[in-house]
Amino acid sequence: MTDTLAPGKPAKLIIDGKAVDAASGETFTTWNPATEEPICEVAKAGPEDANRAVQAARAAYDSGPWGRMRPAERQRLLWKLGDLILEHADEIGRLETLDNGKPIFESRQIDAPMVANCFHYFSGWATKLTGDTVPVNPAFFTYTLREPLGVVGAIIPWNFPMIMVGWKAAPALAAGNCVVLKPAQETPLTAVRIGELALEAGLPPGVLNILPGPGSSVGAALVKHPGVDKITFTGSTEVGKQIMRDCADTVKKVTLELGGKSPNIVFADADLDAAVRGAYNGIFYGKGEVCAAGSRLLVEKSIHDEFLAKLVERAQKVQPADPLDPKTRLGALVNESQMKKVLGYVETGVSEGATIAAGGKRRPVNGKGWFVEATVLSGVSNSMRVAQEEIFGPVLAVIPFDGVDDAVTKANDIFYGLASGVWTRDVKKAHLVARRLAAGTVWINTYNFYDPGMPFGGVKGSGFGRDLGADSVREYSQVKSVWTSIE
Ligand code: NDP
Repeated sequence: MTDTLAPGKPAKLIIDGKAVDAASGETFTTWNPATEEPICEVAKAGPEDANRAVQAARAAYDSGPWGRMRPAERQRLLWKLGDLILEHADEIGRLETLDNGKPIFESRQIDAPMVANCFHYFSGWATKLTGDTVPVNPAFFTYTLREPLGVVGAIIPWNFPMIMVGWKAAPALAAGNCVVLKPAQETPLTAVRIGELALEAGLPPGVLNILPGPGSSVGAALVKHPGVDKITFTGSTEVGKQIMRDCADTVKKVTLELGGKSPNIVFADADLDAAVRGAYNGIFYGKGEVCAAGSRLLVEKSIHDEFLAKLVERAQKVQPADPLDPKTRLGALVNESQMKKVLGYVETGVSEGATIAAGGKRRPVNGKGWFVEATVLSGVSNSMRVAQEEIFGPVLAVIPFDGVDDAVTKANDIFYGLASGVWTRDVKKAHLVARRLAAGTVWINTYNFYDPGMPFGGVKGSGFGRDLGADSVREYSQVKSVWTSIE
């Protein structure tokens, strides 16, 4: 534990290189969803803090060291931050599990290395953002400069609190921007800790500011602030729409990643055991609180019953357990209201005519916690609410289909378009279906794989813009055209 996150002391905001209290002096409590007990108090940022942080970020960008730093030096600092995250992976992983309820296996073995990997990968981009020379006319020397945007406001959700810091801050900083990041109130701790490690790595004051606090006050203030050049947001559709509207007044760029209801399609010619594992991990990894969760499982009719039986057997073997136990694979949902929402959807599914083939109930661990069983709903049709709406929990809707055209029609018959999966041994079919799916990502014979080098984002109601990959760095930079008369 650090000074900021020491027992008995409230976690602070990170503004202008310092750990500080909120201007109002207010704090809020962050809770452990597995035990229903408080973890600690956290400084509660408000609009005044947003203003302080934006001013610090502006100063670091406009006249301070970050805007003038050699890209190679930026690269070195971001790489160092990646190293520090790896060195502190045990501590950060534990904090994440306490705050979010996800199994320590996920937060320590997968999420923490992924965040470090983001800073390592994107550090390399700092020295590789180049413009072009453009031969338009012998009378001119014409070229483009690829420049940062300035100050980026990042607003992130509670389902991947530390990973989202890496996904948003690493490319933005590598491109030369300064960042003000607002974690979700539900899960502020790892963002604060990474903010501290950034200072330890040597990032100058104001370059990465962290503001835990309510979206409706500090988040909205950030979105409306004229000193912010871009908002990058991951979260719910409703808030995403509001943010887009609020960005209009100051003509800000915006990137929105708004979740999904992703189809995971299993054809009869698939390796069925691999597909069962993929279907299982596609929905139950991260307790199903995953924007890209394969929450609609489309199964070809000829193998439907056999496949469902195998999947149900697997789902019934995995029970919710203490998230701090390294063997646990199904943790606690983030809070009581999310649990109620998820259980409400199970009821809705039954009232619409679906059958609970596995799970379906709350299952406290040691008498406490917002745990829900791995749930499989069968007999679902694509028009039901449980097939169309994002449940954001460990609930899988299984929908039969008949042939390629029916699979593609059902897969695309949805508001969202974030991700999708295709399971088949037929290479031609796999790639033809991949082309026809309206989704930002298609996984073939796998599911839920991510890498900082591969872009991730949605189409349709899932939003626009891309996290990760070269595309994300481009989205945090802009092009300037320079004309020089040489005659
Ligand atoms: P929200 O969209 O409300 O929250 C996402 C982030 O936006 C949080 O940091 C939140 O702050 C902030 N925020 C809220 N209102 C504003 C605003 N007016 N201006 C600026 N920022 C704001 O998601 P919820 O936590 O309420 O989750 C609701 C549902 O959204 C889930 O059940 C799920 O279906 C979906 N969801 C999708 C995610 C995805 O990955 N696409 C992630 C999380 C949720 P704070 O919460 O701290 O007040």
